[in-house]
Amino acid sequence: MLEIETNNCWVQFIEFVQNRCSGAEYSNWIEPIRLIQATPDEIVLEVPNIFVQEYLLDNFKDILAHFLPLKHTGDPAISFVIAEPLEAKMVLREPELIEQPAVQQDVKLNHLYKFDAFIEGPSNQFVKSAAIGVAARPGKSYNPLFIHGGVGLGKTHLLHSVGHYVLEHHPKSRVQLITTEGFINEVVDALRNKSIDKMKRYYRSLDVLLVDDIQFLQNRLNFEEEFCNTFEALINQNKQIVITCDKPPAQLKLSERIVARMEWGLVAHMDVPDLETRVAIIKHKSESRGFSIPNQIAFFIAEHIYNNVRQIEGAINRLCAHSRLMAQEMTEDVVEKILNEMFQSSSSNRKVSVESILKSVASIFEVRISELKGESRHKEIAQARQVAMYLAKELIDDSLMKIAAGFGGKTHSTLLHAWKKISDQVQVNETLRRQVQMVRRNIES
Ligand code: ADP
Ligand code: MG
Repeated sequence: MLEIETNNCWVQFIEFVQNRCSGAEYSNWIEPIRLIQATPDEIVLEVPNIFVQEYLLDNFKDILAHFLPLKHTGDPAISFVIAEPLEAKMVLREPELIEQPAVQQDVKLNHLYKFDAFIEGPSNQFVKSAAIGVAARPGKSYNPLFIHGGVGLGKTHLLHSVGHYVLEHHPKSRVQLITTEGFINEVVDALRNKSIDKMKRYYRSLDVLLVDDIQFLQNRLNFEEEFCNTFEALINQNKQIVITCDKPPAQLKLSERIVARMEWGLVAHMDVPDLETRVAIIKHKSESRGFSIPNQIAFFIAEHIYNNVRQIEGAINRLCAHSRLMAQEMTEDVVEKILNEMFQSSSSNRKVSVESILKSVASIFEVRISELKGESRHKEIAQARQVAMYLAKELIDDSLMKIAAGFGGKTHSTLLHAWKKISDQVQVNETLRRQVQMVRRNIES
């Protein structure tokens, strides 16, 4: 008898909250909860994951306390069990599909973006293995997987790789990849065509949702909520979500709610690849275009383009095209000439400052900025300082006096002297020439 009453308490609680929260909130957070046992002292609830449990307690503890038996602390007496993500649920999906007229859309994955074409190095090993992890066990390891990093470092490549892998290993899975812009456009279209419910059903029926460039959701308030609801609906059914972004979640100008959701799973950073990895990428990309680049040239390119793999690809394409047309031997000079335009175009109309030169010189020559501005005659420091002065004269369009002042008040004749000396040295000293070039690229990138 009492048991039935406790049971009723839960039903009453459900009715109570149903009238007080939005449809999306209810279906994402409350509906997935199952009452599995009710005694006079306690109820046992089954939740799909820990987030639903936390959500329930964070938002409804006081209300629950009005309906349910209490512990001696005054808190509602509930124990939680986390539901096993049953393989069987996968099998059940077919009949569900018939009920849901959600259209299965083809997922458009770039066939070149697969895991085995993604070159690993210290900068991206962790992200790659996390991506393989979620692809191998969607919804069961990290959810969501949030990948962030600079432009052209392979975020989109990895995102597509997850899609390919899942479809190869579980061909029946429903996988969709969206760009944030694409998602927004779809919502707009669906609203116009009054098909928003259909769209919602479609997204909520996916097994894996891949979202590219979430930063574009910033300042799109109306869509943020729709996205967040879709996101929660999927996560709470243990469906996998992978997101890419140009910055970590905390730096996104999005609501606290959505930022917190992004941080639920694993946040992985993708760094700029180191020299060896860049060389390996160059070799791999050129070979896959049927074009073999000698090691020395691969290193040469890798030294000049270091913070964007997409630019490296651009360089390879240009070289391939050139070598097909000209049948010319690929020497460093030839390569430099071909790529020069490209190196410069990335730097044109950028204003260089003494500070940015000092910063780059300091990092490449491994000295402090204060030492560059100081008086030390220590050989390494003095040479680095002269390189900075040389580059300042080369790159800054200003009076020598003004430039010299940026070096802790040196005179313009000191600057001229340094410029002359380094100009001569780079003609004969190969190591120095390369170092100077690296600083230059670094400043110009
Ligand atoms: P992002 O999305 O981070 O801006 P992309 O995924 O679009 O970058 O990558 C840009 C290009 O560089 C793609 O053609 C991609 O294949 C290539 N790329 C980036 N990183 C790697 C890597 N580690 N191995 C192979 N190719 C890479
Ligand atoms: Mg991208």
